[in-house]
Amino acid sequence: MTTPHAPSSKPPHPCLACGACCATLRVDFSIHETQEYGGRVPQGLAEPITDTLCRLRGTDYARPRCAALTGTVGEKVACGIYEWRPSPCREFAAGSDACNRVRRRHHLPPLEQPH
Ligand code: SF4
Ligand code: SF4
Repeated sequence: MTTPHAPSSKPPHPCLACGACCATLRVDFSIHETQEYGGRVPQGLAEPITDTLCRLRGTDYARPRCAALTGTVGEKVACGIYEWRPSPCREFAAGSDACNRVRRRHHLPPLEQPH
């Protein structure tokens, strides 16, 4: 059974209708962020690249798309490992120049302000 949500005056976060960065960029991070090394990123999503670096699975394909991303880019998306996502994902700022660049590549309008 689902619980109905109370109406909220806050608009939904723009990332929930985007996902462009997760389907454009190569995402590398330290192996120390993986569960194997005491971090939180699930091992199955971390492809070792060097002795010290991992890459999110799917992000270096010819048409990149992180394996943790669900939904349709530009419509409705979610990160399957949101609580455990690596630092580059946490640091990528919605509304930044880099964000608006990748949004443009997916034919999405720029965000007017940082979120
Ligand atoms: S950070 Fe920017 S590009 Fe990434 S999902 Fe959010 S709005 Fe889209
Ligand atoms: S881990 Fe989540 S936030 Fe990071 S690229 Fe993948 S889907 Fe996007």
